[in-house]
Amino acid sequence: MWLAADLHVHSMASGHAYSTIAENARAGKERGLSAIAITDHGPAMPGAPHLYHFGNMKVLPPEIEGLRVLHGVEANVLDAEGRLDVPELYLARLDIVLAGLHTLCSPNGSVAENTRMLVKAIENPWIDVIVHPGNPEYAVDLEQVVQAAAACGTALEINNSSLTTSRMGSACNCQTVARLAVRYGARLIVGTDSHYHVHVGDFSQAVALLAEAGVPEELVVNTSLEKVADYLQCRHAARRSNR
Ligand SMILES: [Zn+2]
Ligand SMILES: [Zn+2]
Repeated sequence: MWLAADLHVHSMASGHAYSTIAENARAGKERGLSAIAITDHGPAMPGAPHLYHFGNMKVLPPEIEGLRVLHGVEANVLDAEGRLDVPELYLARLDIVLAGLHTLCSPNGSVAENTRMLVKAIENPWIDVIVHPGNPEYAVDLEQVVQAAAACGTALEINNSSLTTSRMGSACNCQTVARLAVRYGARLIVGTDSHYHVHVGDFSQAVALLAEAGVPEELVVNTSLEKVADYLQCRHAARRSNR
């Protein structure tokens, strides 16, 4: 499966990532991608940028190093209601909003509590993608999570770095997410979660996992830039009707 856009990329602004936006864009271009999204961590993460970082992304040109660069955030789910650490005023200025559960930012309770929190986030119209739902640190009922994502049309991420360097022990949960997505018709995106530019666009582990789980191309949002644009347009329209 060919993936045209890496929608989960960190720059140095995240505080624990090591490449500039230009380096990330150049790396994406060299991989043959059509686009990347710069999605630095929301302000509740230690070392993450101030909200002004997200508010000022408008100064960036739409193309950098010959590659389309989307303005995004990886926000932190803060509480049981699925609220985020980035106010709507800022989210409204971005092309794409990723969100997920992160240690030091999101409470970690029972399976029922964690599942409810993630389902609330899935129902939050400001969130376009739930990142690394297979993280074993936060035990959830994956069947409920995938069913909620399918019902709300919110994409779940298969995170390549969960299969290489981060969130050890994720592989089994990621397989389960992929298989359940096929069963319930939930949309998926594949992100690298790159914290250094050489990893931008390297989806190899995640693509192998999708093939093993029998995920058809139509369920995966980032197989073309047009599908990404259509998906985000739908999400943004749903936000407007929700206000
Ligand atoms: Zn994350
Ligand atoms: Zn990330």
